[in-house]
Amino acid sequence: MLDVLIIGAGPVGIACALEAQRKGLTAAIVEKGALVNSIVGYPTNMEFFSTPELLEIGGYPFPTAHYKPLREDALDYYQRVARSEKLTIRLHETVLRMTGEQGNFLVETDKGQIPTRNVVVATGFYDLPNPLGVPGEDLPHVSHYYKEPYRHVLQNVVVIGAKNSSAKAALQLTRAGATVTLIVRGSAISDSVKYWIRPDLINRIAEGRITAHFNASITAIHSDAVDIRTPDGPLTIPTTFVYALTGYHPDEALLGRLGVEPDPADEARAPLFDPATHETTRPGLFVAGTVCGGRATSRWYIENGRHHAQLIAAHLAAQVFSL
Ligand SMILES: Cc1cc2nc3c(=O)[nH]c(=O)nc-3n(C[C@H](O)[C@H](O)[C@H](O)COP(=O)(O)OP(=O)(O)OC[C@H]3O[C@@H](n4cnc5c(N)ncnc54)[C@H](O)[C@@H]3O)c2cc1C
Repeated sequence: MLDVLIIGAGPVGIACALEAQRKGLTAAIVEKGALVNSIVGYPTNMEFFSTPELLEIGGYPFPTAHYKPLREDALDYYQRVARSEKLTIRLHETVLRMTGEQGNFLVETDKGQIPTRNVVVATGFYDLPNPLGVPGEDLPHVSHYYKEPYRHVLQNVVVIGAKNSSAKAALQLTRAGATVTLIVRGSAISDSVKYWIRPDLINRIAEGRITAHFNASITAIHSDAVDIRTPDGPLTIPTTFVYALTGYHPDEALLGRLGVEPDPADEARAPLFDPATHETTRPGLFVAGTVCGGRATSRWYIENGRHHAQLIAAHLAAQVFSL
């Protein structure tokens, strides 16, 4: 019987496990993919927006030669922290549901059952893309995840979206020799695009290196083209690949099966939890990291979400050792 089981080995899940362990609690993580699975899936040469000290967990310095760490730096950092702390991590095991109550939960996975007194849900949001809901979305040349540009050199590529991920993908693809058409639902590149990326993209559009269609939406995707609706009428754009970078959302079905209740007053359907302890309305069940924001996926990130770990560990230790 563990004191606490953490679901998800992202940066915040790892932080939760190590803080709990440092308080003398028995802790384990169960993770459906690889360690820091979301970061493994980020664009190959992605650069973080945050400086390294803001991504640190457990007080471990994050050494990097870069002002803004690269994906590989972060992958290396978090695996070193997890190994240094000798955390117990069950990889490639998916949590399905749980039964019982605080002090006696039984977490059911695709590989068995794990008894635990408390549970922390740190499952992030990166596994479920927001669908476009148009015919052809499931064709093999359509992806919700951008990795790297070189497979698209000398080809037409359509990028859908106007936030950070689509802005960075459009710029990288253009510089790697692809011809990019950007499809934007709104009337401009989002204000939330980082201040050093937004002018770069706007200038590439202004000089005609990237074609952008604003107030536009996709109506269908074919094997060699996309149909869009624009204020000037319908258009068909030839393309060899489509990146639909329209965001992601947490697994609400899983949250429901675990007993995490959404806040009815929050449009983003964020979990209801006590901000002092991160305990949900189900006693013994906690939420940590980006999942705390519900569909508002930029409310919590590593910089601020990593601090959830100390709050939860302190509360659990006080509870377990007072018994
Ligand atoms: C391109 C990009 C750039 C970013 N840059 C920054 C940045 O510069 N600074 C910053 O602070 N944040 C940044 N973020 C946000 C940040 O990466 C996320 O906030 C961070 O990964 C959140 O950590 P987490 O531990 O809450 O969730 P995640 O890292 O998403 O971890 C959740 C884990 O739970 C696992 N999981 C899910 N369901 C189950 C299940 N049923 N059973 C078992 N395991 C499960 C997943 O596989 C995953 O490994 C960026 C995000 C993106 C997409």
